[in-house]
Amino acid sequence: MPPPGGRLGPGYLTDEEKMNKPKVTKELMKRIFSYLKPYWKQFALVLTAILFSAIMTLLPSVITGKIIDDGLIARNMKALIKFILISFSVTVGANLIGILESYLNTWIAQHITYDMRNTMYKHLQKMSQRFFTTNNQGDIITRMTSDISGVQQIITTTLSNIISNVITLVVAMIVMFRENWILAIVGIAIIPLFVIPTRTAGKNRWKITKDSQACNDEINGILNETLSVSGQLLVKLFGMEEKEYDKYVSVNKRMINLNIKESMAGRWFRMVLSSFTNIGPMLIYLVGGIIMMKYDDSVTVGEITVLVALLGKMYGPVNQLLNIQVDWIRSMAMFTRIFEYYDMPVEIDSPPDAITPDSASGEVQFNNVCFHYDPERQILKNISFSLEKGKCIAIVGPSGSGKSTLINLIPRLYDVKDGEVLFDGVDVRKLDLAFLRENIGIVSQETYLFNGSIRENLLYAKPDATETELINACKQANIFEFIEKQESGLDTLVGNRGLKLSGGEKQRISIARILLKDPALMIFDEATSALDSISEQKIQDAIEPLIQSRTSILIAHRLSTILAADEILVIKDGEIVEKGSHDTLVKLGGVYTQLYETQFSKANNSAEENKFEYTEGEG
Ligand code: ATP
Repeated sequence: MPPPGGRLGPGYLTDEEKMNKPKVTKELMKRIFSYLKPYWKQFALVLTAILFSAIMTLLPSVITGKIIDDGLIARNMKALIKFILISFSVTVGANLIGILESYLNTWIAQHITYDMRNTMYKHLQKMSQRFFTTNNQGDIITRMTSDISGVQQIITTTLSNIISNVITLVVAMIVMFRENWILAIVGIAIIPLFVIPTRTAGKNRWKITKDSQACNDEINGILNETLSVSGQLLVKLFGMEEKEYDKYVSVNKRMINLNIKESMAGRWFRMVLSSFTNIGPMLIYLVGGIIMMKYDDSVTVGEITVLVALLGKMYGPVNQLLNIQVDWIRSMAMFTRIFEYYDMPVEIDSPPDAITPDSASGEVQFNNVCFHYDPERQILKNISFSLEKGKCIAIVGPSGSGKSTLINLIPRLYDVKDGEVLFDGVDVRKLDLAFLRENIGIVSQETYLFNGSIRENLLYAKPDATETELINACKQANIFEFIEKQESGLDTLVGNRGLKLSGGEKQRISIARILLKDPALMIFDEATSALDSISEQKIQDAIEPLIQSRTSILIAHRLSTILAADEILVIKDGEIVEKGSHDTLVKLGGVYTQLYETQFSKANNSAEENKFEYTEGEG
């Protein structure tokens, strides 16, 4: 949450509320207005429209005086009709300007939110893996959607309300003082009485607003987690439907209670206000009548009526301006939340003088690399190895030993904490990020396919790939036979996250996708999940020729994959404990030998033939 120290309306909010109020600084305001800058011409037009419509809305009140004095009391039919027509035309004119104003307002607001959404999306795409693993998805979506939509509301409603109300008030006051300064003072003197009920109403609404924002985040979080494919699967498999439903119902209930409270928050205030609205005119009639009858007979009935009418026009703006405090704080809070995301540093980016070599061989070298997600827990310790062009390294080790973490350092999904990772002899942090990632292809454990057709998913890697290239890649990845059998062929839809396909099919499509990308370095994070032996063999047959010809790293769980590699790194607790070829490692009688033996003992009596499994206990 924003730091304490908001300055708006001191005394309006409780200490706790003040703690959570956004700090409205000059910088914040400057920043907000910087979004208006590109549209200053339209904004200037809006201001002019507001000025005209405010003046024109007040004019009929002044004309009422003329209608009474020069028309009715003077019994002058011509003047009466003239002033009625003027009053009518002015009202129509004010309404027409009002339409132009709201069109321009909406136009500006839409364009500003368009700009903000694009900036936010671009910024979020640059955020590191750490950001997405740490932040709640619901919160990210809320900032992208409701917070930015809130900004639109600020511009269309809050900002134009402030401006038009201030203009209306100033113009009304000037006219009132010009008409009769004593009656003007009487009318205006009553206005401060509004402040008292507004304080209470504002205070309540601010608290409710904050609670309902938090509630909204919570609902978004629940929806995101439980209505996603994997979330739903988990809910179903654990039979948690009822529990999740109850959880949702309870937050939803809290939300409706807050909404009811929010809409009722101003009810008492409005009741008190309507009483005051009646007192004001009565006072002007009374004081005006006394002046007119006892002291100054030049004061006319029309004059008194004009003052009453103008006072009536002031209540609305005063009420809105006093209430705007809450909208204002809410708006500032929204901007602060949005800017909070904008200001999150892009942790991983190309350096200003990034190196972009002409081509890449895919060579990798780790020099004393250390890494941790959390400083308390070291994940990789002093990792050093090198992978030459055209060679293949297999990484083996127990679950959680840091294998995936290690490979994630190469395309800079995370940056090393100590040591360096070289790609083609250059520290990855010095390389152009796009170049680096273009030259690395990862088939990850959890294959991700976008909801669309197989073709669309393949084209993601190479948008201009020809039909022949697509087919060749599929053939090489051993998936073409499957595609051919489908009624729609390459246009078969894969479903949400590719869940209409089996694990093995998805893996092979993702291999085809990598083949189309044709990177200098290929990383294959073998799925730990058991695939049937036919599926496994198909994947195996697809990878083997692949790694023969290119620089590659395999995180291997199966013996056959390991045997295909030139060198094996054995990782345990984030350290390389052994390194070498299969034959040398087996003879060593160390960790690898144990793994190998375990594998064989398993293969003899397990259906998961060829599965290279290892657990801490066994190691
Ligand atoms: P597996 O074979 O099961 O895939 P692995 O050897 O690839 O395991 P990693 O995924 O690299 O292991 O994880 C290494 C350790 O880092 C684990 O203990 C894990 O809990 C931790 N870890 C992984 N990702 C994160 C993260 N984003 N934030 C914090 N800790 C993490």
